Amino acid sequence: MGISDLLLLGSGVDLGSERGVSCEGALPAASDPQLLTRAATARQQLGDKAMVLGHHYQRDEVIAFADIRGDSFKLAQAAADNSGAEFIFFCGVHFMAESADILTSANQKVILPDLAAGCSMADMATASQVADCWQVLEKIGVAKVTTPITYMNSSAAIKAFTGKNHGAVCTSSNAARAMKWAFAKGEKILFLPDQHLGRNTAVLSLGLSLGDCVVYNPWKPNGGLTDEQIKAAKVILWRGHCSVHGRFTLQNINEVRQKLPGVKVLVHPECQHEVVANADVVGSTEMIIKTVTQSPAGSKWAIGTELNLVQRLANENPDKQVVFLDKTVCYCSTMNRIDLPHLVWAMEALVGGRVVNQIKVKDEVARYAKVALEQMLALP
Ligand code: SF4
Repeated sequence: MGISDLLLLGSGVDLGSERGVSCEGALPAASDPQLLTRAATARQQLGDKAMVLGHHYQRDEVIAFADIRGDSFKLAQAAADNSGAEFIFFCGVHFMAESADILTSANQKVILPDLAAGCSMADMATASQVADCWQVLEKIGVAKVTTPITYMNSSAAIKAFTGKNHGAVCTSSNAARAMKWAFAKGEKILFLPDQHLGRNTAVLSLGLSLGDCVVYNPWKPNGGLTDEQIKAAKVILWRGHCSVHGRFTLQNINEVRQKLPGVKVLVHPECQHEVVANADVVGSTEMIIKTVTQSPAGSKWAIGTELNLVQRLANENPDKQVVFLDKTVCYCSTMNRIDLPHLVWAMEALVGGRVVNQIKVKDEVARYAKVALEQMLALP
């Protein structure tokens, strides 16, 4: 990897395949008083041939135009289930649009309104780094007993690597099932790219010890581990994390419990182990929404997930007290790149007959990535 690659990391860049960030034509100004009208008009003109998908972490101004809201997997499935929609505006981040492209039919086109909407976690595992890691496992002689499991939040190239090597994709809701399946057929798991989801699932759901897990650092020779450490480990965790969920701390939990007696702490499994281990409830994005929505009036929740979602939950549940777990405001900055001006720009371009920012995964990559996605759907 060269210095120019290093400089691109964190900007939504899949080093093998990336994409620019400028918008052809005029991007509407955020202050344009006609923006809402322009969005509604373009949406109406596109009719049933288009579909707008909105991830739960998106801004309200974008969610207002979403036909379906969901987490990454629910949205990719929604796109596949609606094969009549030729154009999918995916208001989420790059790896999600890739998954939608892989799962949809050949006549459907997936559009990401801003190509700079990447995911810092997905960018932490590049195809060449993972190939190097696999070579290390082969050299030590453990690759044949290792099953790769990759979190949905990874590039199509990493999903393809996983499919090629007989592994599976997982989401935060089925990570435990995926790991159990992998242990039923092999001795070790290489868990990509989120170390926290991997560790939390291994320890809190499967009953392994923290000592059964090692962290593979792709920036160090041999992952920063000795051959013996790799041989002894049951779970090899990739050194990746979510920059949003990784921020929450045990101190945040202690402070909110002191400030709001009776509060329940509800966090996403991408949070650090000590946060997850000390929370009252742990769950995926969809589970967080369901838990708060179905809780009795008067209940108090401190939530450790992306701030747009927490704010929306607070607004949509006025009979409950919903607060953000951290004192510091923290949005997912790449998700937030999709704003109403970009959505209007992409929709108006299509009204004018131009498909902009199409996300197209190469056939070979898509084929193997689909194997790993289908293995997830077939998990026992
Ligand atoms: S919240 Fe975290 S995992 Fe999700 S898109 Fe943002 S950086 Fe990636």
